[in-house]
Amino acid sequence: MRGRLTCPFCDYEREPGPQPVFCPSCGVPLRYERRLIGPTPLELEGRGVWRWRPFMPEVEPVSLGEGGTPLVPSLRLGEELGIGLKFKLEGINPTGSFKDRGASVLVSVLLALGARKVADDSSGNAASALAAYAARAGLSAVLFVPAHASEKKLSQIRAYGAELVEVPGPRPNATEAVKAACRKDPQLVYASHNESPYFEAGQRTIAYEIAEELSWEPPDHLVVPVGGGALFLGIVQGFLDLLGLGLIHRLPHVHAAQAAACAPIVRAFEQGLATPKPVAPGETVAEGVSIASPPRGREILAALRKTGGTAVAVAEEEILAAWERLPKEEGLYIEPTSAVAVAGVSALVGRGVIRAGESVVIPLTGTGLKSAHLG
Ligand SMILES: [Zn+2]
Repeated sequence: MRGRLTCPFCDYEREPGPQPVFCPSCGVPLRYERRLIGPTPLELEGRGVWRWRPFMPEVEPVSLGEGGTPLVPSLRLGEELGIGLKFKLEGINPTGSFKDRGASVLVSVLLALGARKVADDSSGNAASALAAYAARAGLSAVLFVPAHASEKKLSQIRAYGAELVEVPGPRPNATEAVKAACRKDPQLVYASHNESPYFEAGQRTIAYEIAEELSWEPPDHLVVPVGGGALFLGIVQGFLDLLGLGLIHRLPHVHAAQAAACAPIVRAFEQGLATPKPVAPGETVAEGVSIASPPRGREILAALRKTGGTAVAVAEEEILAAWERLPKEEGLYIEPTSAVAVAGVSALVGRGVIRAGESVVIPLTGTGLKSAHLG
């Protein structure tokens, strides 16, 4: 397989392998890099994630038609804020979230590398996505979920035939449990959506699609909900890939939005730290971004600063208000995690970070159909 696994902070690199690997000096997960030689023409064919094959690991795709999602203008919120706002509708992916992009690439690579059995720790979208693509590829999947996970999400994971292991206690216990299981069983591959380099490689296609649809003229800003950071890092790295090839000529400012109840990146950004400190998470409806100690935290902060972005925490009532508002005013039925970014845009306009007339894109991460909606 072409490409290398590289450290984002030093020159350590190695051959691609199935398990996530951390840099021995920096202690951060490695990322996937396929060096492309610019400029164009790139041979792009078809639609969706695998349209971008020249950027991807060279493997046979395990695909359910993920990606190629619409970019839809906001009518009411954009006008109210005086900005050119567009939504990227990730909820229409095959399992209902943006995570299908990463799962498609990850499962394709793991299958090519000979994996038979994959595992992840997730209570929601990542678990559904991995279970679906594993089913499609004929792999067995074991998902370690916090015991308090939502029943709608668990039934979707079960429907794909995945084995569910409920782990009592707080969210990090599920991560510990899956890692222990993978150490014990060498056949079990840790297909981590937070640590695997191939997952993040799939997320970059959101940036590629936005840039291509806007005729290679990126928006001024993107506002992205951040938990583990695969979406955020994928988007930033995607724009960096395009910049490196000369397909775009500037980076958009990519801002990170977090729920105030669990905001390690915002806290570290405001304190000027290079690496976030773990926080004690409070309750939030935005369960998809409730990650107290993101493994790629240092990389997220570096990426944020590289794009001239900022980090914003939004209160629970702002998240709830945005979550209620979008279906009513824009016809968009979203998960609460998406509402974190919607509330984040209003906050950034309020602070003058986003100015009148500027263009902004928000990825709406997932469908509302899996969430227990209020009222
Ligand atoms: Zn390193």
